[in-house]
Amino acid sequence: MPLAPKLDAASAAKNLDEVKPPYAPQEALVEANRCLFCFDAPCIMACPTGIDIPSFIKKIATDNVVGSARVILSANILGASCARVCPTEVLCEGACVMLDKEKEPIKIGRLQRYATDHVFNNNIKLFQPTKKKVGKKVAVIGAGPAGLGCAAELAQMGYDVTIFEKREKGGGLNTFGIAYYKMKPEVSLEEVALVESLGVEIRYSVEVGKDISVEELDKKFDAIFLGVGLGDTQKLGIPGEDAKGVVDALEFIEQIHTQPLHKVPVGDRVAVVGCGNTAIDASTQSKRLGASHVHVIYRRGEKEMPAYDFEYELAKSDGVEFLFNTLPLEVLKDNAGNVRGMKLAKTRVAAGKVEVIPGSEYEEVFDMIIPAVGQEKQKSWIQKVFPKLEIDKKGVIINDPQTKQTSEKKIFCGGDCANGGREVVNAVGEGKKAALGIHNFLMGEKVDSEVQPSRHGLKEGRPTGSGLRNPVRAPELEEAYFSTNGNGNGHKKA
Ligand code: SF4
Repeated sequence: MPLAPKLDAASAAKNLDEVKPPYAPQEALVEANRCLFCFDAPCIMACPTGIDIPSFIKKIATDNVVGSARVILSANILGASCARVCPTEVLCEGACVMLDKEKEPIKIGRLQRYATDHVFNNNIKLFQPTKKKVGKKVAVIGAGPAGLGCAAELAQMGYDVTIFEKREKGGGLNTFGIAYYKMKPEVSLEEVALVESLGVEIRYSVEVGKDISVEELDKKFDAIFLGVGLGDTQKLGIPGEDAKGVVDALEFIEQIHTQPLHKVPVGDRVAVVGCGNTAIDASTQSKRLGASHVHVIYRRGEKEMPAYDFEYELAKSDGVEFLFNTLPLEVLKDNAGNVRGMKLAKTRVAAGKVEVIPGSEYEEVFDMIIPAVGQEKQKSWIQKVFPKLEIDKKGVIINDPQTKQTSEKKIFCGGDCANGGREVVNAVGEGKKAALGIHNFLMGEKVDSEVQPSRHGLKEGRPTGSGLRNPVRAPELEEAYFSTNGNGNGHKKA
């Protein structure tokens, strides 16, 4: 049977509503006041964009919510989406000293959301385009998190930045690929508008290598940043994969973001193949859209699955079932070419390799199969459009980890195409790093700073930009620091 929507509009909207609702002001105040405002706070170092977390939390605690948002967005222009999608449990909150005291870590992500929502919801303008121009132009390819992070940083340093985006909207994964109950696409689009408000031009529906040549970019721009992310979901490589009802995980999630929820076709018995975070997102969303049974199929065991524990727990609480040590062998079709099930086999791991247990084959009934076994790298596009660019065996662009410069001096990169696929916040952090790399390349200066600001550096905050060099600081912490040290070199007196 062809796939069809399962729920009415009201039920679909209710089921896919946010799993983490925003804090009320009183809740935010109470949570902010739990923070110990650590000196050299480990949470800052755990954040790939180096947000001065104690500073922004202190500002919430003192009812300066706008100031708090300024600290966040100065360091991470996508601070509103990161607040929703960061795996905080393994990043900032995972580093919180409260854990050493066997207490709940400070809910940094939710406080970050509280502050950034305040400025977006009230249309408060925090930043103006800088008037001090450096007279150089940079082309950014891709308006995803890495491209936006890089562009915002460069624009604040006075560069003229043009982003080339092949889709009709910006935001990349944040707009099209995040589970709907974690973040709505509108949040991401507001951030895109924020980047544009810094003076960044975005040319939509323009594909580099097709609508504009690299030669033209080379002629018109002083440097190029590549933030093209990853490609399509990898194929399962089994017979029957062309059946109607086999829907790529990213395509499925994109449908949820681009059409009314109650019109998204979903199966009754769904199999999701793979066990990463995208697989979990696809499984919970198909369950919430009305599938009666959802099975996640993974060829290895529970301990080896790449998904985060909290994502796994959420899926289980939604009623998703996990078939571990199970390998899909074939997609079974009916006479009309629709999915009717899958032939599976049980596996075991021997000497690190997955092998099928002989005689364990069996069939299971499904009417929708969602492959989520990782994404292709943009290898063929890179080889076609940038043939001289060095890539590794996996198709990841080789780059200097500090400056993000590639084998082509004028070209820099960041995000999934440069790291093989990590979190949104990593992409933003790498975009920022590349911006500094580009700045140093064009101005002939040496890279002298990590992205994470820590509390080491100059006393004065930075007037614009992210705090790559002179981090925005909490004055009260600064005072304490300089009263015990005085030389500003980042080491407390014994
Ligand atoms: S950006 Fe993400 S990792 Fe960084 S402080 Fe915010 S929630 Fe934590």
